[in-house]
Order: sequence, then structure tokens, then C-alpha cells
Amino acid sequence: MIPVTTFQGKQVALFGLGGSGLATAQALVAGGAKVTAWDDNPDSVAKAIAEGVGTGDLRQADWSAFSAFVLSPGVPLTHPKPHWTVDLAHAAGVEIIGDVELFVRERRAHAPDCAFIAITGTNGKSTTTALIAHILKTSGRDTQLGGNIGTAVLTLDPPRSGRFYVVECSSYQIDLAPTINPSAGILLNLTPDHLDRHGTMQNYADIKERLVAGSEVAVVGVDDGFSSLIADRVERAGTKVVRISRHHVLADGLYAEGSRIVQAVSGATSLFVDLDGIQTLRGGHNAQNAAAAIAACLAVGVSLADIVKGLSSFPGLKHRMQPVGRKGQVVFVNDSKATNADAAAPALSSYERIYWIAGGVPKEGGITTLSPFFPKIAKAYLIGEAAPAFAATLGEAVPFEISGTLEQAVAHAAADAAKDEAGPSAVMLSPACASFDQYKNFEVRGDAFVGHVAAIDGVTMLI
Ligand code: ADP
Repeated sequence: MIPVTTFQGKQVALFGLGGSGLATAQALVAGGAKVTAWDDNPDSVAKAIAEGVGTGDLRQADWSAFSAFVLSPGVPLTHPKPHWTVDLAHAAGVEIIGDVELFVRERRAHAPDCAFIAITGTNGKSTTTALIAHILKTSGRDTQLGGNIGTAVLTLDPPRSGRFYVVECSSYQIDLAPTINPSAGILLNLTPDHLDRHGTMQNYADIKERLVAGSEVAVVGVDDGFSSLIADRVERAGTKVVRISRHHVLADGLYAEGSRIVQAVSGATSLFVDLDGIQTLRGGHNAQNAAAAIAACLAVGVSLADIVKGLSSFPGLKHRMQPVGRKGQVVFVNDSKATNADAAAPALSSYERIYWIAGGVPKEGGITTLSPFFPKIAKAYLIGEAAPAFAATLGEAVPFEISGTLEQAVAHAAADAAKDEAGPSAVMLSPACASFDQYKNFEVRGDAFVGHVAAIDGVTMLI
């Protein structure tokens, strides 16, 4: 745990005790702050009390006594409308911050020279975060991995010289981190997302921009208009910018040509690494993630050899285009995290011959946007509530069956793929649907897929 010493002896209000909130409260208490924590859910409050955290209804509190208000990133700061605690904090002139800001202040107070890599973007954050942490770890560095990826940042070990922090940041967390100042900050890409919580695309982009604007080295994916403008603006303000692209040749920066990552310096280019053969980094989207990871690792002093070693041994993230088994020419891929059509597209684009398992609770628009990939699909196996609608979309374009359950789908797809003489193929769960009709969440669905794959006669598991 990182005791938050910067509020020692001060009174701090905190709202939101689910997720990272309780850990944040404990870190404040451990550092000597007097915490008044609250949540609308009485069970969360009871849990905090049991853990020794001071609680109190913030509606009744004297806000003039608080030095800061720590808000959980899951609670609306601005949109659709500010939470009632936010109104009270504003009325009392109390600053509103989150756990990433507390971490940033601790680092600045105790070990400002320790490397801090922060990652944001609409897509690819977790993959890039995990990849960077893997490269650092395999190169023997003392590495701390956390943030939005699932480990609350204040549960990590305290900042000290020589330690490396790799922290995934959601837009909500950045919104609550006004002085964020990473050694290397990554903005991967920007497409409309979470606009219910940020109002407009411009507002969403402005928040993401803050992460790279505060960085010593800003790594920015310049394939979309918003990010490209951000790179220019941050550079004009005097920050060192490393541009990355998966679609364009750059005069300076790192760009992808197929699976090759090319480094360009003033127009002179050299091959940095070829990702061909690294199963966990297939596809153009992963070339973007890898280029960003390379740029950030170079910025904090990792050698080319160590970066290449880390890239080639990256185990991938669970449920995201994860190769989990192999039998002959058939690879079994778990992409359960693809809960809508947009999220399934990268996986479908990354393999050439696919036995595709899809379905669950469909999202608006179904799978119509995936039609460019239909020619690569040898057969589709449809499960859950979405099966009839998906069958109608596939129509004559793709052979399909309504398998009903995941177990049936895996068994049938594996049998069909085994008979395929056209060459290598993938049996892939990339459902383009939520899981709730048949599973608790996408993780449980992905684990079930892995279980069914493991039951196939003669399969070699890769995990
Ligand atoms: P995030 O943490 O931003 O949600 P993940 O790394 O968990 O992103 O990846 C989630 C899904 O997003 C992946 O399964 C893939 O379909 C897609 N994806 C990953 N990286 C990118 C990228 N750079 N650009 C576009 N889509 C991506």
C-alpha cells in the first residue's frame, strides 16, 4: 500500500467505497489523514467501518473543514449532472481529486525521479499497459502495474528511486488528476466513447489531452483527428512528442507497415522489430499498442534488446484475442471481451480463416458493421439470445448453425475446423454481445470457453 502522507493531519472527505474507493480511504488513513468516507450503499459503508475507516453522511458534514474531496472515478463529476457531493464540494471551495492524483502527489513528494508511465486512449489501454509492464519486468526492473486495469493504484508499493510504475488511466481518473505528470504519457487513440459522462467528444478529448500535456515525453497515436491535433498542440507547448501510427508513414516517430514497426528519425528509417509470429500481438490494432509501448520504454531508458525480448514473450491479456489452445493447424482464440461489434472487429481482421462463435445479448446494430469480414468466416456458430437476429444478418453470405450453447458451439466448430483442408484456421469466441443471458460476465464466459477447449481430444493448451 502507498500511505498518502500529503494529507497527514488533515480532514479529507471521500465518496464512493466500491471498487478502488475503500483502498483509497485506507491509504489516506495509513498516511495520517482524518477521513470521512461515505457511499449511498449502506453495505459499502458497513464494510468501511469494519476496515477501520471513519465514515459519516457527507450531507450533514461541515465541508469547510475538509482540505480535499476524494471522489471515486465511477461517480459523475460533470455529466449527466454533477453528483450531489460535487455540488457541496464546489459550494465550499474544496478541491476534488481522485486516487491517481493522490499517487502523483506521493511520487512528487518522495521519489520524483522514479519512472511513471501512464496510458490512456479509447481502445487498447489494458493491452498496452500490460505489455509495457511485461517488458519492464522481463528486463529485470522493479515494476508496479495498476490503475484502471484492475489494481487500485494506491495498493501498489510506495514510490522509491529505481521503481517503475505503469498505470492505466480512464478518462474519469484523468478528470480527477489535475497535476498528473508522467515520465512518459501515452494517448493511443480517440473515438467517441462514454459521451454520456463527458458531454461532448471535445470535452472527452480535452480530458485525455491533460495526461500527455503533463508528461515529460508524450507518446501520441496520430491516426485520428483529435489525437493528431493534440500531438501538435502539446509539442507547440514545448513537450517532447513521439508520434505513432498504424496507418501512415511518419518522418519522425514509430509507425507500422504490416507487422513491421519502423522507427523514423528526421526521415531516416530503420526496422525496430517485426511482430510477425508473436501470436499475442496480431493485428493492426496491436501494432499500434506495441509501437506505443516501445516508445514509452525507450523514453524511460529500456534497451532495444530488452524491448524486443519483452515483446516476443508477451503472454497477452486474458479474454482479448488470447490464443488458448492449438490442435494441428487450428488455434483456439478467446476474445470474450468483445462485447459489441466494434470490439469484435480487430479479432476478425487478425485471422484469415475463422470458425466464429458469436452471440449472447445483442447490442444496438447487431453485427451488420462486421460484414466486410464475412468472406473470412468459414462458418458461424450462434449462441444465446442474439442467434436468430445474427442468423438473419448472415443470411446467404456466411454458412452458420444455431448452436445454442457455447459448449455445443466449441464442439461443432472444433470438429469442422479439424476437417478443413484449406490451411490454418482459428476457432474464435468473439461474441459481439454481452454475456448476461448465459454468463455472469465476459470473464466467466471466456473461462467457460477455455474449459470447453481444454476438453477437446488431443488439444494442446497454450495457457
Ligand atoms: P481497453 O483497456 O482500452 O478497453 P483492451 O486492451 O482491453 O482495451 O482491448 C479491448 C479490445 O479493444 C480488444 O479486444 C480489441 O478488440 C480492441 N483493441 C485493442 N487495442 C486496440 C487499438 N489500439 N485500437 C483499436 N482497438 C483496439
